[in-house]
Amino acid sequence: MQVEYQAPLQRLNTFGIAARARCLVRVRSEDDVRALLRQPGWDWQHTFILGGGSNIVLAGDVQRTVLKVEIPGRRLLREDERGWLVEAGAGERWHDFVVWTLQQGWPGLENLALIPGTVGAAPVQNIGAYGVELQDRFHSLDAIDLETGETFTLHHEHCAFGYRDSVFKHDRPGARGMGLRGRALITRVRFWLPRRWRPELSYQDLQRKVAETGIQQPSPWQVLEWVCAIRRAKLPDPAVLGNAGSFFKNPTVTAEQCADIIGRDPRVVHYPMPDGSVKLAAGWLIDACGWRGKTVGRAGVYEKQALVLVNRGGPQDPCSGGEVMTLARLIQTSVYERFGIRLEPEPVCVG
Ligand SMILES: Cc1cc2nc3c(=O)[nH]c(=O)nc-3n(C[C@H](O)[C@H](O)[C@H](O)COP(=O)(O)OP(=O)(O)OC[C@H]3O[C@@H](n4cnc5c(N)ncnc54)[C@H](O)[C@@H]3O)c2cc1C
Repeated sequence: MQVEYQAPLQRLNTFGIAARARCLVRVRSEDDVRALLRQPGWDWQHTFILGGGSNIVLAGDVQRTVLKVEIPGRRLLREDERGWLVEAGAGERWHDFVVWTLQQGWPGLENLALIPGTVGAAPVQNIGAYGVELQDRFHSLDAIDLETGETFTLHHEHCAFGYRDSVFKHDRPGARGMGLRGRALITRVRFWLPRRWRPELSYQDLQRKVAETGIQQPSPWQVLEWVCAIRRAKLPDPAVLGNAGSFFKNPTVTAEQCADIIGRDPRVVHYPMPDGSVKLAAGWLIDACGWRGKTVGRAGVYEKQALVLVNRGGPQDPCSGGEVMTLARLIQTSVYERFGIRLEPEPVCVG
């Protein structure tokens, strides 16, 4: 375990916001976590669990103890005629883990390639991209209760996965179960990768690749390559232009609400869902309100994709979390005024 005081966080969040942690602890094993819990005055409510910092906005210096999860390890736990059960430590980089599974000949995670961040954070918001969500391949995870020190295992049915949602995003018992926000430090995650593999190509961008290349039955590597190419063309690289990926969730509305919005603008991009609801493209709504390419202070809206807010100040004069949240609120207000839709931010604002 490594402890730093007044630790700079600028390189530990993909927005590149300059802030400091009063105390930053790098945890590399379950024992590190347990040792922390034995410290006099330990209070889990004054901690923040940090992975790769790719889904957070730092509102200022962090007075809570930041636990930077760096638990390593990847291994095959079981193999049978149906598939592979694979485990990774929470601190592993997600994309490296995806590539490693493919190198071993275990396909299934390729549509989730190039998502920044760590394996441990992936279940928190049930990461998803190009027709696959973490929950589709998830088996179970281990976590430590930061209040009691107890280690526990959660299976799929305990995690209350939803669209960019899980039990780890809720802090009270309720519709999404136990409410483990900030309290459960995920240490290891396991994935079930079935042998019977079919490429998941339902997304329009992937369909376009099939049409362009004429490859009807791509290999897992081919899908990974396509996904990486599509992502590189669409999303800014945080190493070049700070950002936290999609800033707002795509809102879900009823069919009646959707009809009302179509009445206001027939071009609205919408996707009917199996349960009868309709998902709206948040990026389109923001774009329609004229935000694409706009800048407020040192925070801006990415010119190629209005769903992504970016740090226009760069590493020398970075935007503050306050500027990002001000811009986010302005966008929320104009989308609400024009379409009656409340956009919900995806990243966690850390105060
Ligand atoms: C360019 C870009 C593209 C992106 N594309 C996508 C995408 O396609 N799909 C998608 O779903 N997301 C996407 N994201 C968002 C982000 O990459 C994911 O949410 C990712 O899982 C966050 O991982 P992280 O390790 O950086 O988590 P952090 O940002 O460090 O933390 C996020 C949350 O998880 C909690 N957390 C982190 N680690 C643990 C742990 N071990 N135990 C318990 N809680 C923990 C934190 O407390 C925080 O609440 C993108 C982000 C960027 C910058």
